[in-house]
Amino acid sequence: MTIREILTEPNKLLRQVSKTVDKVTKEEQILMDDMLETMYKANGIGLAAIQIGVPKRIIVMDISKNGQENNPMYFVNPVIKNKNKEFSTYEEGCLSVPNQFAEVDRPATCEIEYLDYYGEKKLLKAQGLLATCIQHEMDHLEGILFIDYLSKLKKSMIIKKLSKSKKNSETLVI
Ligand code: ZN
Repeated sequence: MTIREILTEPNKLLRQVSKTVDKVTKEEQILMDDMLETMYKANGIGLAAIQIGVPKRIIVMDISKNGQENNPMYFVNPVIKNKNKEFSTYEEGCLSVPNQFAEVDRPATCEIEYLDYYGEKKLLKAQGLLATCIQHEMDHLEGILFIDYLSKLKKSMIIKKLSKSKKNSETLVI
């Protein structure tokens, strides 16, 4: 397994719409293994393939609590079937938007149809953190980031901050 670099905003690749996977092959499984390893290393609970620069509709997640056994989940070509009309609010962050957090409203429950690690068709009924997390990750497949739900002002402030910290780190590398 390989730890891959996580792209951060602003980066045009993160705005790309990811492509449907024709078939889950060894190549996709290796990608999912790398994604999971990369996500754990970064202390994240979810990661979409585009966040490491691969435009495929693939997501890995693990929302188990610290100290609990790992519970990796793999989603290929996920589609939302039912969304609840009730919303719940979580303070969200994102590995591609480092150190920034904001409250986002999303449907409280949803049903997701997807292929698992072995390419088998599955249905997941999600609620709570699981529902929020899978919807956040599925947004990545459409090139959407959680900061897109914020006011224009707040969003541009965050992007400005991130651009600045990127410049600084580049200077340090030299
Ligand atoms: Zn994210």
